[in-house]
Amino acid sequence: MATLLSRALDLLYPPRCVGCASFGHNLCADCLGQLLPASGPGRCGRCGVRRDDEGRCPDCWGWRDLDGARAAFEMTGSARRVVHGLKFSGIRDLASDMAEALVPVVKELSPDAILPIPLHRSRRRRRGFNQAEVLFERLGWPPAPGRLERVRATASQVGLSAGERRENVAGAFRYHGPDLKGATVAVLDDVVTTGATAGECARVLREHGAARVYALAYARAPYRSSASGRSDG
Ligand SMILES: [Zn+2]
Ligand SMILES: [Zn+2]
Repeated sequence: MATLLSRALDLLYPPRCVGCASFGHNLCADCLGQLLPASGPGRCGRCGVRRDDEGRCPDCWGWRDLDGARAAFEMTGSARRVVHGLKFSGIRDLASDMAEALVPVVKELSPDAILPIPLHRSRRRRRGFNQAEVLFERLGWPPAPGRLERVRATASQVGLSAGERRENVAGAFRYHGPDLKGATVAVLDDVVTTGATAGECARVLREHGAARVYALAYARAPYRSSASGRSDG
């Protein structure tokens, strides 16, 4: 039924590529091919940020509870449009494209559990959905034994320094569920920027027995260039 309805809607309102506005797909093959993978040589092995020097990584040296960050693409060009298309324009089918791109990343990490990072209920109500939950549903990974709850509404992370971001989300999350007993856990969101939000989730999950916690996201926004962009990480 849902498929019939979506097919009828596709006829009435054919999907348009968020990258180039061509008809037929939410993200066309050309625009998909131009996305910049967020892994490989020339990147920090821990947080995945692009860098050309050795030594202490400016983006992740201060991470205490996160073991690393893994993302499919760099948050530039069409990847940014994909993220915004889901989060701000509510094009939920984009989550399928995003999940598809995440599959190899998830397989390589092979976490014991993936927990979508929750929104506070007030923001979720305003947006109508949580992009991280939609992404998790489309990923089709087995449900985790427990869940995270955002117990405190927090201001947007946009424009805040890394330290301010950490302060902004301190104590914002709670975990409900059985002990995680040495598990490797991934906390999922659409974008990871400073890792402050994922790091706070990681702190809570470690208190509940997780041995390793990774930030998992569709896009990696380098913090130093993120001040001009809209992102929540
Ligand atoms: Zn396109
Ligand atoms: Zn790093």
